[in-house]
Amino acid sequence: MAEVKPNPLDAARQQLSLASKHLGLDSSIREVLEKPKRALIVSLPVKMDDGKVRVFSGCRVQHNDARGPFKGGIRYHPCVTLDEITALSMLMTWKCAVVNIPYGGAKGGVCCNPKEMSKNELERLTRRYTTMILDLIGPYRDVPAPDVYTDEQTMAWIMDTYSQFKGYSVPESVTGKPIILGGFEQRESATALGVVFCIQEAVKHLKIKAKDARVAVQGFGSVGWNAARILHELGYKVIAVSDSQGGIYEKEGIDPVKVFEHKKKKGSVLGYKNVREISNEELLELPCEILVPAALEHQITRANAEKVKVRIVAEAANAPTTPEADKILNERKIFLIPDILANSGGVTSSYFEWVQNLTRERWPEREANKKLKNIVIKAFDEVYAISKKREVDMRTAALILGVGRVAEAVKTLGLWPS
Ligand code: NAD
Repeated sequence: MAEVKPNPLDAARQQLSLASKHLGLDSSIREVLEKPKRALIVSLPVKMDDGKVRVFSGCRVQHNDARGPFKGGIRYHPCVTLDEITALSMLMTWKCAVVNIPYGGAKGGVCCNPKEMSKNELERLTRRYTTMILDLIGPYRDVPAPDVYTDEQTMAWIMDTYSQFKGYSVPESVTGKPIILGGFEQRESATALGVVFCIQEAVKHLKIKAKDARVAVQGFGSVGWNAARILHELGYKVIAVSDSQGGIYEKEGIDPVKVFEHKKKKGSVLGYKNVREISNEELLELPCEILVPAALEHQITRANAEKVKVRIVAEAANAPTTPEADKILNERKIFLIPDILANSGGVTSSYFEWVQNLTRERWPEREANKKLKNIVIKAFDEVYAISKKREVDMRTAALILGVGRVAEAVKTLGLWPS
């Protein structure tokens, strides 16, 4: 029977409920954490290149800011829903807490298909969206960043629109900006670097050698391609990669840099020479040591979790595994590095960018990379220690750490008016 993909918000709430049980959380605190603090739905009339006006729907959801200003990406995708964005905003709250950086969680989205829009249309859409959420964002309120199908150019337009309203330049209003505007030089690879730091720790615990480890990467965008490249540089054998159109496989390994050059010219990894073309479903079922889902949510489901033949799943994407699949992977003793830990390098580097913008400083690359490594590995070690102590899987352990820190902050702030 085919699995009905779960509502992402139900899935996120199930995770919260699991962590709450382990933490013995008061039901009132759990209720506070179950709901976003604020959600704004916006309609965005945009003049298209043909002169017609189209009205897009968007939202910004702010989940919790007990530990610091809201922080979270903006996603442009035809399937964006309020529930999905709310679920992702919750994940952001836990993620910031897992790596212990002083942010809360938020997320934004616009229901559109950027692949079918011109650059001018995307600029008009982005500026309109920024104007509509202007009262909610700002360097001390809520700091947007890129997510699926948004990029540094999108962030430049948001920064400019925000700054125009303020009357002065506010680079610290967004992260993931172009370097020329105060962006962080390692931002592009930071999420992937964090994924790789976690994989390096996991292989140590499982006694797997890099040279013996075959890797399959689903999604060849910013995170997937950089993860494939760095793993290849470290001696791992990347045997398969894919994008929304399909995947490629070669058992002797492929060179991600060459595939990236090919994708730049042709728009897809498909058509690359001397490899077998496979579907995204096949990629997830390839026998190998490490699987890196780096595309969208709910790719590993009850329908295929039994067929995943790997030792490590490193969740570079947000929520790529459904709760039912999670159980199956866990029963099969597959070591899963959960999203809120595995891809936390992204928000950590955003934090570095924000701090540098606020202090008007520029850190040397080596210093920044060292800080990133220390933060992600410390979080991995803390999560791993909880998983051993409480005899739970890594996702539950990460949720215990993240939700626990947020709950403590909420309790300490107190309720006002009481
Ligand atoms: P991106 O837009 O750069 O890349 C997405 C990739 O996934 C593209 O190659 C696309 O072709 C592919 N894709 C889309 N649908 C697919 C499908 N059905 N099957 C296989 N591939 C598919 O996005 P990104 O920034 O690399 O983000 C990827 C994931 O990582 C998302 O879940 C995002 O939320 C998460 N994430 C990203 C960052 C970051 O810094 N960019 C940080 C944390 C988490």
